Formats: sequence, C-alpha cells, structure tokens
Amino acid sequence: MHNIWENALAEIEQKISATNFSTWFQDTSLISADHGDIVISVKNTFYSKQLQSKFITEIETALTNNGLEVNNISFEVAETKKSKVRPREITADPNLLKNKIKPSLKSHTSPLNNGLNPKYTLDNFIVGSNNDLAASVAKAIVDNPGANYNPFFLYGGPGLGKTHLIQAIGNELIRKNPDYKILYTPISSFYADFIDSVRKGHGKDFSQKFLELDCLIIDDFQFIVGKEKSQEEFFNIFNSLYQLNKQIIVTSDRLPSQIKSVDERLASRLTWAGAFDLQLPKFEDKCAILRAKADLSGAEIEDAAIEYIAENVNTNIRDLEGELSTLLLMSDVRGLTPLELIQKGAVSVAHATKPQGVNSKQILDKVAKFYDLSVKEMCSKSRVMNIKNARQVAMFLLSKELSMSTTKIAAEVGVKDHTTVIHGVRKIEQDLKLNFKLRDEIEAIREKMYV
Ligand code: ADP
Ligand code: MG
Repeated sequence: MHNIWENALAEIEQKISATNFSTWFQDTSLISADHGDIVISVKNTFYSKQLQSKFITEIETALTNNGLEVNNISFEVAETKKSKVRPREITADPNLLKNKIKPSLKSHTSPLNNGLNPKYTLDNFIVGSNNDLAASVAKAIVDNPGANYNPFFLYGGPGLGKTHLIQAIGNELIRKNPDYKILYTPISSFYADFIDSVRKGHGKDFSQKFLELDCLIIDDFQFIVGKEKSQEEFFNIFNSLYQLNKQIIVTSDRLPSQIKSVDERLASRLTWAGAFDLQLPKFEDKCAILRAKADLSGAEIEDAAIEYIAENVNTNIRDLEGELSTLLLMSDVRGLTPLELIQKGAVSVAHATKPQGVNSKQILDKVAKFYDLSVKEMCSKSRVMNIKNARQVAMFLLSKELSMSTTKIAAEVGVKDHTTVIHGVRKIEQDLKLNFKLRDEIEAIREKMYV
C-alpha cells in the first residue's frame, strides 16, 4: 500500500532532525516490497549512499513498525528508471510488474517547526471503550485550553494512541486559531536541546522560548529518568506556564509516581487535574479501528478479514495497523482479496506476537525458570504468592501466545477447571495496566521464547 511509506516517513520524521529529514527523504518512495526485499526510489546515487550509511536503521525500524517484513533494503535511482530503457527480461517479467507499488504522488508534508504532524487528527482518532474518557477530555481541551484539564496527563502502554491523541489536540488548536503557539516535543528532545544550549552557554535563555507558548505538549515523559538538571528546568517551565493558565499536556507509559527518580512534587503536580489512561482495545474497538483505517486508505476489505485480524492481534493498535497494512499490501501484490489470502493460508497474521514453533511445554519451562521454580512446583496447588503469580503468568501466556482453550490450559497448569484459568488470565490483564514490573517480566519471558 502506498501509505505504508507515508506512515514510515512520519515515523522517521519524529526521530531525526528536520533538516536531515527534508534533505534526504524528499522525493523518496517505496517501489516494491517483495518477501522482505525492499526497494526505495531516490533522486540520485548520492542520496542512496547517504540514506544507506546514515539512516538505514531508522528506515528499517519504521518499515517494520508499519508491518513490512524487511530482509534487505536497496535504493533505485528514479531518473535512470525513466530515461534508460531497462533490459527486456526485467521489464517483461510480469511478476516484477505486479510487485511494483505505485509511488505516492502526494509528496510528504514537510515537518512544521512546532513538532506537529498533520496526519494525526481528532477525526481519524477512533473512539471506543478503550479511550472514550481520554478522547472527551481531548475535545474539552480543544474547546477550552488551559481550563479544567490542566495539565492533561495521559498514560498507557506503547502503541495505544498517546502520541496520536495529543498531536491531534495540537493540530485542532492550531486549526481553530492559527496564531496559537504550540510546541510538541518528546522529553528526550527537550533534554537534548537543553544540554545543547547549556553547552553553548545559552542555558539561561533556554526557558524563554517555552514561556512564549500557549500550549506545551511533552511526549514520553518516562524517559526523563535520572536527568536531574533537565528535570529541574522542566519543572520551572511547567510552573511558569501553569501560572499563566497555558495548556500543558504530558504523556507517559506509566504514572509519574512510578517513574523512578522523578521529583515527588513534580510527580504530584503532573496529575493535579487527574491521570487519564488509554487501554487495550476490545474486539469491537479493534474492528472499528481497522474498518476506519481501511476506509480511509480507500482499500476494500471484507468484514470477516477485519474480524480475523482483530481476533489475532492482541498487543496494541500499532500492531493492528501493521497487520492491516501487510494484508492490504499482499492483497495488492497477489491480486487476491484480503479474505482470500487468509483462507488460502497465505498470511499469518500476528506472526509477531506468536513466535513460530513455541509450544506449551516451552512456555511452562520459560515461565518457571524465570521465577526460579520448577515446572512441577509452578503447576502445583500451592497458594504461595510467588508460585500462584507464576502460574497465572503461565496461563496468560498460554492463552495469548497459543490461543489455547481455557479447559486445555487448566489441564496444562494443573488447576481445577477453566474458571480458575479465566480468573487468572483476567488478573494478569488487569495487573498489566499498572504493574510495570510485571509488564517488564512478561516482556522478558516473551523475548526468551524467541530464542
Ligand atoms: P503511543 O504513542 O501510545 O505509543 P501512537 O499514538 O503512536 O501510540 O499510536 C500507534 C498507532 O496507532 C498510530 O499510527 C496511531 O495513529 C494509531 N492509533 C492509535 N489509537 C488510535 C485510534 N483510537 N484511532 C485510530 N488510530 C489509532
Ligand atoms: Mg508515542
């Protein structure tokens, strides 16, 4: 799909400097993506060398995040393609022609210096049971910035829409009032800018540009960790803006009190007006998001195919989008509808969340080992806290990774019946929302399952 590259560019744009982005990524497009063989069109060989040596990691990450399999990335010069006649056997290869994806005609919108990416709007943010509270606060802020929800503290796991929602607020505020001064910045850039200006001897003036703002949007605040000086600077800026009734928006993957080394006063101030979270989407939410994304891109996809993706992707909305893009891309390439592809077994949706070849024995082994237990101990009737917890993690992983039925899981982990399993899996799902230690543990176990 042509918008995969658009999405990848938007991601790259967030990671590299504005100058680098506009210099090197202008006039690029995705020509083909066949079995992980990515071909990107560039202006000339100089560009391809620069992209290859400087930005290959960013390109690879962005493409992978947008659902493409990436084994090899090569660059093709656009001019030669137009002017030179290519060898017959290549142009004549019908498969190759079929694999060509039309480069997007619309050139990518250049980054604005307020850090906002116009692709994120409130209109294309789909509201469901997982995010309705946060979405209505966003609307209230657009109607009345700096009033009831100041600061707006938004938190939740990766890929659940934090960046989208706060960028949408910024874009909407600008749309309503083009003179409104907004700055969106990930905390890591704030930190880098601060260090840079101290190094250049402008440390004292650093806060000045922030104090002129009407709205400051800080993303991924969890990365403030341990950066005392910049934290102090941020705290001062925060207080000054707050006193002037300027809107402050902050996101994080966890509550401020759960971020180590965040000053207690700052932590409490960030959540003065409440803390709003984004949750994992339920089945209906996932279907609604997929339908909206497909419709927006003008692609045709059957309801059954949408339901199939929704059932199989249980991680987050970014992965959901990734799977949809892959399926639509494959459908384009192969000339089959998304549902036909699924029925033919030509795609394995959620391959990223279900490691190939992992079986229940391996899952039980890894979990038990991680918690320093034997499988026998873990699968005993013991109600000792750490053993019970390990058992519930095992139930959770068997359910998520292997989509095993609750009755089967009960037999695997030695519990009485499937209701104990349902309870155990729910318990972990609930705990995952706020227990970051558990989140890290489960991530670590998942990683071990791949090797
Ligand atoms: P986070 O910042 O929480 O990691 P993002 O805001 O980057 O997550 O969201 C990941 C992807 O999912 C983005 O492409 C975003 O547009 C999309 N997305 C998330 N939530 C929604 C939603 N409610 N409606 C439409 N798209 C969404
Ligand atoms: Mg984000």
